[in-house]
Formats: sequence, C-alpha cells, structure tokens
Amino acid sequence: MKLYSDYHIHSKYSKNGHCKSELEEIVKTAIDKGLKEIAVSDHGIKHFIYGTSEKNIIKARKEIDILKEKYPEINIKLGIEANLISYNGDTDITQVVVDNCDIIQVGIHFGVLFKGLWGNIRFFKLNFIGRFIKPLREYMTGINTEALIRSMDKYDIDIITHPGDKVPVDIERLAKAAERTNTALEINNSHRHLSVEEIKIASKYKVDFYIGSDAHVCEAIGEFTDSYDRIKKAGLKIDRIINLEV
Ligand SMILES: [Zn+2]
Ligand SMILES: [Zn+2]
Repeated sequence: MKLYSDYHIHSKYSKNGHCKSELEEIVKTAIDKGLKEIAVSDHGIKHFIYGTSEKNIIKARKEIDILKEKYPEINIKLGIEANLISYNGDTDITQVVVDNCDIIQVGIHFGVLFKGLWGNIRFFKLNFIGRFIKPLREYMTGINTEALIRSMDKYDIDIITHPGDKVPVDIERLAKAAERTNTALEINNSHRHLSVEEIKIASKYKVDFYIGSDAHVCEAIGEFTDSYDRIKKAGLKIDRIINLEV
C-alpha cells in the first residue's frame, strides 16, 4: 500500500519560518519515497501568521516550472491551502491563485480575520464558547457547515482539508454537498480529521477521499500511517481513496 500522490505539502513560501523546505528538497524527497505526483500547497494569503503571498505564488510557479523540466519522473504541481474568511463562504482565493495553482484546497484556520465584526465574533468567540454550551455548539456547527458548503458552490475547490478540525462541522451535510460539487474530503495525516466516525458518516455519500500528509518537514512527505489507521478502523474501501495505490 502506498500513496500515488501527496497534494498537502508546505514549503519555504509559508511566512514566519512555518516550514523551511526548499522546493527542490521536497521534489527529491518525494521521488525517493516513490510518489508519482505532488503539490506544494502553502497556507492561503490571508493567513496572517503563516500565509504565502501573491508574489510568492508567482515565484513558486516559476520555480516549479523549472523543476518539472529537471525532474520529469514526477508530476509537480502548485497548490494552495486557502482559507475560509466569511460565513457567506468567501475565501482568500484570488485571480492570481486561480491563474497559477493547479490544485485548490480550502481549510478552516484560526490565523485569519473573518469579514466583519459579527463574522469574527462568531468565528473566534462563539466557536470557543460553544465548546461548553451545547445549543450554541449546534448553532455554530450549522453555520460553519453552511459556510463551507457556500465556498464549494462559489469556487472550484478540489479538496476540503481536515474537515471537522478547528471548528465543528456537520460531516453528513458537508459530504452531501461534496458529492454534489465533486469536492474530495481529506483524511489528514497530521490532524485527527476526518476521524474514524466522520469517515463512516461521509462514506455513505459518493464522495472521494484524499489522504494529505500536511508535511511541514520533508520527512513527513507522503506519510500516511495515521490516516490509514483511521481508514481501516472506519472500514472504508480502498478504492474510495483517490491517491492510494495497492
Ligand atoms: Zn490546514
Ligand atoms: Zn496544511
């Protein structure tokens, strides 16, 4: 069992030393590990701590185009792990992102400001307080899910990263929308989502699953032991996972 591709690899183009990997180092490691395809996907530009920038996206694109010629044995893509930034489903995907990235992923992260004061109160405060108050948690689960579904309707998203991490979401509704919009759900190897229970729920729908290493160091590229463990526990058929090779 091995991974054919890994689309969730962070690089030096993340801000503040979040990840130090050089692109060529990433490519060489991926080849050594037997991967056939990779995407370098840094945090979206509105992530004020770790995000990449439009300038860096253009730089990374150029660097990848050179590396593609140098290493024809592997398919190298540029991706992004964009951020949800409003309860209307807006994200930090811009035209520069669309024009330069081959793989568009969206995730929920706390390193962004949401649009508007009420958006921020709900995103930061009410999600937190909701951990302790059930009706509030249910309300937040509903609007968090709705926001992700709206983003899937607004943008052409390939993969939702670590669904259910950071803030609660209704996996059943999300999976239904993911099936309708042809968006894959990630079983992230570095975060605990999708969890065993969430995989079981999502697998009732015709949604694709994708394993992402979420590597912040080269050694973690193509690693999937943790994800695979959850997949086995959930009884998910291997052919539902688009980047796993038997
Ligand atoms: Zn993430
Ligand atoms: Zn990530």
